[in-house]
Amino acid sequence: MKRIIAVLSAFFLLLSMTACVKTEDPQQPVDVPVYEKTIFAMDTVMTFKVYGEGTEPVLDECEALIRQVEDEISKTIDSSDIYKLNASNGQPTKVAPETAALLAAANEYSRRTGGAFDITVEPLVALWNVGGGRTVPPTQAEIDPLMGMVGFRRMSVDGDTVTLDGCRIDLGAIGKGYVSDKLYALLKSHENVKGALFSLGGNVGVIGTKQGDKPFVIGVRDPKGQPSDYLGYIELSDMFVVSSGDYERFFEYDGTIYHHIIDPATGAPSRSDIKEVSIVCDDGTYADALSTALFVMGTEKAMKYYEDNKDFEAVFVTQDSKVFVTDGLKDKFTFTGAEAGYTYE
Ligand code: ADP
Ligand code: MG
Repeated sequence: MKRIIAVLSAFFLLLSMTACVKTEDPQQPVDVPVYEKTIFAMDTVMTFKVYGEGTEPVLDECEALIRQVEDEISKTIDSSDIYKLNASNGQPTKVAPETAALLAAANEYSRRTGGAFDITVEPLVALWNVGGGRTVPPTQAEIDPLMGMVGFRRMSVDGDTVTLDGCRIDLGAIGKGYVSDKLYALLKSHENVKGALFSLGGNVGVIGTKQGDKPFVIGVRDPKGQPSDYLGYIELSDMFVVSSGDYERFFEYDGTIYHHIIDPATGAPSRSDIKEVSIVCDDGTYADALSTALFVMGTEKAMKYYEDNKDFEAVFVTQDSKVFVTDGLKDKFTFTGAEAGYTYE
């Protein structure tokens, strides 16, 4: 029976995560209309689903918001604050108040995570260029000179003025989380939106409830399986779930996987015991920063961070296929990964 429930849940989960134009929720009779949209932005596939009478136009508002924020924070669009800062040659530069606030938050996340999260890894991200065509790791001689450019204390934020002291920045690790917070606020501001679910390539947000006042069910991906394989699910509303893993962007060389998350301490893709970590938190930007930071830290440091802070919850999947969750998730997480070879601790 348990197995049937697990299989059925996985099936409904898949349906709820699959993109199409208009859907019916199979779990409940359709009493609230549901509208869906899929776009490609910020280098990833994004899907939105809204529940509520007359909410279809909200989908276009979501897309417009994302395109606008992307223009503001992209490091490759020359009108963006981030582009301007990277070209500023160390000169104090005035940015939009929101950019300044985001960069100040980034510095705070770096400080709290002991530098595991650090947006000044940009030169290393650019060198490794994982997912952008590199097939052979760079040499230590290429990495070493860039290490001197990395360190979050090189970026200072004073009001709306930001100074980069011999460094460059890359918001890849929090950009989607930042957009998630904005989407959340937009969706919340619409009274007719009874519920919403959006997924921005690994960054999921859920608002309210779906049909029949049911909480949303968020799948935790099986990091060794196909994108549609899950090893468990979490029931939530009004929350963000953000995952980082070594399967998102990587290349394999000589039997080693080189993924896109850099350990600022070594200048290379992190080598922790974590294969995937999913953060559950009511702040999307913080959740995104933590997914990157905890992935770099490894389970031991990550659990210490959890004990010291307790301002989020997490699901960990280790390289040796163990799955465990933080205390606050025990009654919300359902493990379904036994058949795929995972053990739940
Ligand atoms: P994704 O956006 O693919 O879901 P993450 O949120 O973990 O994954 O962000 C990874 C991206 O963040 C990388 O592609 C790179 O641009 C940047 N990055 C890599 N390592 C770090 C780090 N230690 N701290 C901050 N940003 C990083
Ligand atoms: Mg992240």
